[in-house]
Amino acid sequence: MDPCSFLICGRPSAHFCVMSHDEPLVLERYRKLVEEIAGRYIDAEVVLVPSIAEWMISIGASVQEASGDRNRLGKSLWGSPSARDTIVLRTPLTRDDVSTYCLYLELRRFRRAHLLNQSVECLKHLVLHEVAHIKHDWRQDREKDCDRWAFNQLKRWA
Ligand SMILES: [Zn+2]
Repeated sequence: MDPCSFLICGRPSAHFCVMSHDEPLVLERYRKLVEEIAGRYIDAEVVLVPSIAEWMISIGASVQEASGDRNRLGKSLWGSPSARDTIVLRTPLTRDDVSTYCLYLELRRFRRAHLLNQSVECLKHLVLHEVAHIKHDWRQDREKDCDRWAFNQLKRWA
């Protein structure tokens, strides 16, 4: 499964991840941070949308092709000769999104998953994860590598 798509059912328990109490992150307010992080590693456009699946359809994907993007928080597109590399993020990033993201990484045995319980930290990791795909040309079979690389870079953005 792809950590970019959160299909885990149910809510994470407090055992895995204590809910953070911050408000949903309206990513438009964090565009500068997202662009700064991405720009440190790659040249990519940042697109903020309410639905990644709808956005994919708007750029020509079929409904079927976009169905896998329905629950995604982030997606990266790269390697096209005719289009700039792109990171697409769903806005806003809600507390449930953050909890689910933490849970996913806990289940993958990332010991630092709890560090992402703060929404801004979660956003940074999500952006770094998408950067990793583009920077290293890592496809969907390298999700764990993307997560690991993102954790390693995260300290630069404290
Ligand atoms: Zn990914």
